[in-house]
Amino acid sequence: MTPIVQAIRLRLWLPLGIAALILVIQVALFVHDRDDTRRRAHAQALTESQALLLRLRRIIEIGGNESDPTAVEELIGSYWSIPEINWVIAYDGQGIVRYSNHLAWIGQAVASILPKESVIGHPPSPGDHAVRLDHDPETAHIRLRTPVRFGWQRDTLRRPNLGWLMIDYDHGHRLAQMIHRRYTVYLSQGLLLLSIALLAWWLLHRYIVRPIGRFNASAQQLAGGDFSARLHIQGRGELADMARSFNELAQRLAELWQQQRERERFLATTLHSIGDAVIVCDIDGRVTEMNPIAERLTGWPLGEAAGRPLDEVFDIVNAHTGQPAANPLHRVIEEGRIVGLANDTELRSRDGSRYQIADSAAPIRLSDDSPLLGAILVFRDVSEAYAAQAELENNLDRLEAFANALPDLGFILDDEGRYIEVFGGSPELLYQEKKRLLGHRLTEILPEPTAGRILETITRAIATGEPQELVFELDIDGRTLCFQGRCASMQRPVDGHAAVVWLSRDISAQRRNESRILHLAYHDELTGLLNRTAITERLEEELSRARRHASYGAVLFFDLDHFKDVNDSLGHQMGDEILRQVAQRCRQILRTEDLLARIAGDEFLVVLADLGGSPELAISETRVVAEKILHELSRPYRLDDHYINLSSSIGISLFPQDEEQTTGDLLKQADSAMYRAKTEGRRTIRYFTHEDQRQADRRFLINNALRQAMSNGELSLYLQPIVDAQGRCRSAEALMRWQHPELGTIPPNEFIPIAETTGTILKLGIWTLERACEIIKQIIERDHLGTFERLAINLSPAQFQQPDFADLVSETLRRHGQSAAHLKLELTEEILVSKPEVVNEAIRRLRERGVHFSIDDFGTGFSSLQYLTQLPLDALKIDRTFIANLFQSPRDATIVEAIIQLGHALQIEIIAEGVETEEQLRFLRAHDCDFYQGYHFARPMPVDEFLDWMTAEKRVNIREKRKDKRS
Ligand code: C2E
Ligand code: CA
Ligand code: CA
Repeated sequence: MTPIVQAIRLRLWLPLGIAALILVIQVALFVHDRDDTRRRAHAQALTESQALLLRLRRIIEIGGNESDPTAVEELIGSYWSIPEINWVIAYDGQGIVRYSNHLAWIGQAVASILPKESVIGHPPSPGDHAVRLDHDPETAHIRLRTPVRFGWQRDTLRRPNLGWLMIDYDHGHRLAQMIHRRYTVYLSQGLLLLSIALLAWWLLHRYIVRPIGRFNASAQQLAGGDFSARLHIQGRGELADMARSFNELAQRLAELWQQQRERERFLATTLHSIGDAVIVCDIDGRVTEMNPIAERLTGWPLGEAAGRPLDEVFDIVNAHTGQPAANPLHRVIEEGRIVGLANDTELRSRDGSRYQIADSAAPIRLSDDSPLLGAILVFRDVSEAYAAQAELENNLDRLEAFANALPDLGFILDDEGRYIEVFGGSPELLYQEKKRLLGHRLTEILPEPTAGRILETITRAIATGEPQELVFELDIDGRTLCFQGRCASMQRPVDGHAAVVWLSRDISAQRRNESRILHLAYHDELTGLLNRTAITERLEEELSRARRHASYGAVLFFDLDHFKDVNDSLGHQMGDEILRQVAQRCRQILRTEDLLARIAGDEFLVVLADLGGSPELAISETRVVAEKILHELSRPYRLDDHYINLSSSIGISLFPQDEEQTTGDLLKQADSAMYRAKTEGRRTIRYFTHEDQRQADRRFLINNALRQAMSNGELSLYLQPIVDAQGRCRSAEALMRWQHPELGTIPPNEFIPIAETTGTILKLGIWTLERACEIIKQIIERDHLGTFERLAINLSPAQFQQPDFADLVSETLRRHGQSAAHLKLELTEEILVSKPEVVNEAIRRLRERGVHFSIDDFGTGFSSLQYLTQLPLDALKIDRTFIANLFQSPRDATIVEAIIQLGHALQIEIIAEGVETEEQLRFLRAHDCDFYQGYHFARPMPVDEFLDWMTAEKRVNIREKRKDKRS
């Protein structure tokens, strides 16, 4: 229902209402007043009329007695002039009017004047004086009656007469006048009030209605969007205050409007300049707003997209499956909360392009609990970001693999020493588990002062921007490890802190090696003794000290006899063990101030200083020590569960000898002395002599000369026949001869060992093989009877140990067109025990081709049944020392017998070498030896000579056979 206020126009209804109110009040007051007036007038009229009646009664009663009745008549007649009195009648008991203001009525019967009902026909009773009212109270007409006694007349004696006095009183006119007066009063009052009301209306209009109208107009203006609407204010008062408030309100509204406008402009600009695509939808999921990026990505301009369902515009699929993806907007509208897009969502643009996108959708509502207005969808093209991220992940992967492959530990530490990242492939080097480190500071983890030192290094790296290094030690799992830390500051801060990359490398091994290298530089690793360098330096000092103090010293040089054989047969570990024991034994013998060194292999050196000023004393003191050493070293050596016996030879050189003697000289001298000790029977002590010096010089000479010997044709092969029991030459041994132009004939026993130590033996070996092939050819050509089987050549260990030796032999034979069956190789037992795998393999391969093998000097070395049974050997050559001692030493004879038997048992031929006498030959024949070699048959001879010998010999043999046949 339309509210009533809207129907009323204050301007009209307010004055009308007030006027009506005044009218009503005035009328009501007037009516009330009129009635009151009427009542009061009536009461007054009653009183007045009663009083008049009573006065008239008195006049009549008195006047009628004393005076003349005419006077009374006149007096009453004068009452006609009183307008209120209609009439006065006094009539007697006969009904005759005695007095009246209408003089004409006097004397007439009352009944003819007055209506019958008004006339009382009987006289009043005596004593009745009551006044009776006889009127209509509603009218202004009062009629009163009272008994009256008429008096005597003087001329008559009649008795006083009783009658009625009546008065008809009408104050209607007066009342009308009174009422009229009241009416006038009220009318003027009403008019006055109306004028006041008019004035009030004018005031109202001027000061309230009109301002309100202006308020209204201004409000309309505001409502119409004109925020410049203002009220002009005059004076003070509520409306002025209100106008002021209105103006303020308008001002505020204008400001708000302005802000709103700016906000909208801002939002619009934001929406358009925002880097992300934005689509706004209404509650029905229809597009209402899009920014240019959304337009570009979806391919839909806003003009076309507006009003369409979002699904049409925003077409998304799962990037992996290609299946349509759920539009997040629907969930937002359903659930009314923010929903994130799945990361692997792909947007299909209208033009068919695809974009990898990611983002979210959010509901739009004015406040938290107001109803949903729509939803906003924000998304962005993350295709490049995805590619970049994939690339980043790849790099990270590589980096991690790289870090894991590094032997180092990697850390990222911040400037407060906090572990931010730990990586690397050696977690066992971490001081604590990775997860315990992360987020903690170095100072909480590592012991001081290490933590502090690392932190200082980090601070330095950050301050200088230069990589820094620090070497520190940490106890990890009960081991003290040494680390080399390197750190470089990172360009970007991590979590607001400057940070460094720290690499820790375990250099414990390197450190140990360094100190070991340092130790090794002066010590022998195996025995812990001084090494050659150290002893040379110390010897230098001792030498000059000895010169200063004129006191003798001595150098003892010794090695173990046949140590090489031990090493080869028992293995290097055992050899090393022996060397350790040797070192230990020597140390026990020597004083602490004596110097002991191992200078190579089994060669040891002792330097004794301060032996006093007398050479004799020095020599005897040195001998005591040397003998102790010899004795000590000849005690059996315990190796695991067995013992081994070894001896040694010692060479001694005293110092100082002269001013020129150097440490090099000293060592050479001691070495020479030892060499002599060895050649002179081993297990001996020799002092350096000038003979030693001479021999050493000769060895040096020979070694140098040997280099040219082959090219100069100084070498030749001599052949020594090997015969069977019948004396037939079945084979021969090639023995090397060296004819030096100045040194003369040099025996192989002298130059072969030298060649072996210098390696020249390999060239000599090749030469021998070549030469042997030529000789074989010559022999075969001359061997008409065909008894000659093969030529034997000697091999040194070094030759046979070459890995390609078998090929070398085969190749040489092939080149010379020689059958391998004509070649025999003489090996020493030493060869067999050294590098058994290589040697065995070479023997097998050559044996397969037909090459024969014999063991030279059998019985002197490590005769082992094992190789005899396992290797394809053809012959054993009993060492010539056994043959030489056959009749001096029963032991040697027994050994010879045993060897022959052994050979027969193993089906190996036995050759006896060094057979010089008929006696020896007989013994050997008696024991069934197969072949014989020695001066008894022939000395080694040049090839031509041998060929002649062979043919001659054969003739001899034939002759002998013939003799046999004849006999
Ligand atoms: P070997 O292999 O034991 O050679 C036998 C040695 O005994 C030869 O000494 C020979 O002349 C000598 N001999 C032969 N019959 C008798 C005899 O009845 N009585 C005595 N006392 N000696 C006899 P040679 O020629 O001086 O050779 C010495 C060693 O030199 C050889 O001992 C051999 O080990 C080595 N040798 C010689 N020529 C060569 C060679 O071409 N290559 C290699 N690697 N070593 C060789
Ligand atoms: Ca030989
Ligand atoms: Ca021999």
